Amino acid sequence: MRLSDKFGRPITDLRISITDRCNYKCVYCRTGNEGALYGDLPFEDYLRMARVLVGMGVTKIRLTGGEPLLRGGVVEFVRELAKLGPRGLKPEAFSRANGTAKAVPFPDSDPLDIALTTNGHLLADLAQPLKDAGLTRVTVSMDAVDPDRFARITRVPNGYDNVLAGIRASRRAGLWPVKVNCVLMRGFNEDQIIPFGMFVREEGVTVRFIEFMPLEEGRTWSPDTVVTLDEILTRMGEYRPLVEIPHARSETARRYRFDDGIGEIGIIAPVSHPFCGHCSRIRITSDGKIRTCLFSVWDHDLHAQMRNGASDEELAEFIRGVIQKKEERHHIGEPDFVPASRTMVHIGG
Ligand code: SAM
Repeated sequence: MRLSDKFGRPITDLRISITDRCNYKCVYCRTGNEGALYGDLPFEDYLRMARVLVGMGVTKIRLTGGEPLLRGGVVEFVRELAKLGPRGLKPEAFSRANGTAKAVPFPDSDPLDIALTTNGHLLADLAQPLKDAGLTRVTVSMDAVDPDRFARITRVPNGYDNVLAGIRASRRAGLWPVKVNCVLMRGFNEDQIIPFGMFVREEGVTVRFIEFMPLEEGRTWSPDTVVTLDEILTRMGEYRPLVEIPHARSETARRYRFDDGIGEIGIIAPVSHPFCGHCSRIRITSDGKIRTCLFSVWDHDLHAQMRNGASDEELAEFIRGVIQKKEERHHIGEPDFVPASRTMVHIGG
C-alpha cells in the first residue's frame, strides 16, 4: 500500500538532511555562533532509509542540510540513490524477500527524482559530477544579487562569486531547472525583489521567493518581518507585468512568468497562503529522526529502530505508524503556536 496519512495526503516527497553543519550563518537562520550539532550518519544508513521509503511510494528525494555539500562522498551517495529508481520497489517485495527487498520497478514508473538544496558555495566543482551521478535538479539559496548585501546576510565574505559560479556550472552541467531560493526578511533584503527579476532574465534561472518562517535560531520572527506574497507581486509588477502560470494544487509555489515570456518567478507563501492540505513531505534529520512537519514539536527515531536490528519490513511498519501522526497544519501566527523542537539548520529545509 502506498503511504498516506490519516488526512488522506499521499506521502511521496522525502527530504534527507545529510549533515547539520553549515558554512554559512545566514541572519534569518542562525545566531552567528556555532552552537551544538545533532551529528550525522554513515551514507549507507540514509540509503537504507531511502530504499525502504521508495518502496512505500516516495518518488522524490531532496538532499539538504545544514550544507549538504560539506559532506565528502555526496556524489557517490547520489549515485547509489539513483539506483533505487525507477520508482523503487513493489511493496510486496518486502514480505517476499524478508528484509532484503529487491528492486522491482512499477510498470508505469518514472525515474526517481533526486534534488539538492545547497547554498552553492562548493557547487561549481561538484555540479557536473553530481549530474553524472544522477542528480536531477538543484536549488541554490541566494538571498541577494548584490555581493555586499550577500556577505552581510550570510556573514561570509566573498561567497557571492562562488555561488554565482555554482549556479552557472549547474546550468552548463544540464541540471534543470536551476532554482534560486530567496528568503525575504524585512529590513534585510526586500529591496532585492526587482534585482532578482532582472537576474532570472539574465541568468536563465527561476527564483523562488520564500516567506520567512519562525524556524530561526535567534527567535527574531514576528509577523512584521514577513514579506508576503501580495507584497512581492506588487513590487515585481512595478518592474514588469507578471502572468500567473496555472499550477497543480500540490505545488508549493505559485508561479508567474513575465509578460514577454522571459523569466519565471515563484512564491512559496507558507505564512500568508498555507498549503498544508496538500503537503506530501516527510523529513529525515541528519541524525536519523523522522519529522512529519517543519513545525513538529517532536521527532521519531528511525535510526534507533535500525540500531535495534529492525528488518526493512519492520522499518516500513514503524514509518507507517509515524505517518499517521503527521500534523494537519502549522499554526504560524496563531495564539496557540508552539515553536518547533528544532530550528531550520537542524531540520533540513
Ligand atoms: N544549506 C542549504 C541551503 O542554504 O540551501 C540547505 C539548508 S537551508 C536550511 C534550506 C533552505 O531553507 C534555504 O533555502 C534557506 O534559505 C531556507 N530557510 C532557512 N531558514 C528559513 C526560515 N526561517 N524561513 C524560511 N526559509 C528558511
